Amino acid sequence: MQDSIYTIPINEVFEPKDGCPICRMRDMLETRGIDYIMGAAMMEPDVRIETNRLGFCKLHYDKMLQQKNRLSLALMLESHLKEIQEKGIGKYVPAPSGGLFKKKETAKPEETCFVCSKIEWAEERFFDTILKMYGQSEEFRSLFQEQERLCFPHYRELCAFASERMNKKLLPDFLKDAGALCQKALDELKNDVSHYCKMFDYRNTGAEADWGNSRDSIERAIAFLTSREPEKKK
Ligand SMILES: [Zn+2]
Ligand SMILES: [Zn+2]
Repeated sequence: MQDSIYTIPINEVFEPKDGCPICRMRDMLETRGIDYIMGAAMMEPDVRIETNRLGFCKLHYDKMLQQKNRLSLALMLESHLKEIQEKGIGKYVPAPSGGLFKKKETAKPEETCFVCSKIEWAEERFFDTILKMYGQSEEFRSLFQEQERLCFPHYRELCAFASERMNKKLLPDFLKDAGALCQKALDELKNDVSHYCKMFDYRNTGAEADWGNSRDSIERAIAFLTSREPEKKK
């Protein structure tokens, strides 16, 4: 497996100062991962073993479907389906865990994903680099503080990761800086969504009604809360 394609220079991710840097990193990894899987990786038996075992999540199937190379996808699906046939569908039924709706130990097959697993793998290394740079470089620390925002899921992931791995002396500063980036975004969005709601008041229906920054606030709030741009209306 060519893990080098999942290595991304940290400055490339933090320099643009536009949106959430972790979303940007994730998007870069995702694009590279999907290009690789639909192209060069097709003929690599060790990759196929992994994709047969893990399959893909709905989101990443959709992204692969958007690519031109339908034969790649068909070949991957063929051998993934074949593996399920050969193992037998019964093997995929989770063992009882006391109560049908209690949380199961085993992940559902539609939730395991080759691309997601690569992103998680690379993300862990990337988070480690962020923490190291934050501790070592004054310049990077400023760059981190100058980010436009951290989305809510990435704020939580990054802080949980730091709480576990970071030098205890540096941790409070890091949590404060990361918190400021998420808080700022949250407060702005809350204002914009409130403004949007007020625009439905009959007093605000005239041509001179001032929407301010609120017109796309629903889309931006969803992106902040989920780390993903909502799908455009067809
Ligand atoms: Zn994010
Ligand atoms: Zn996935």
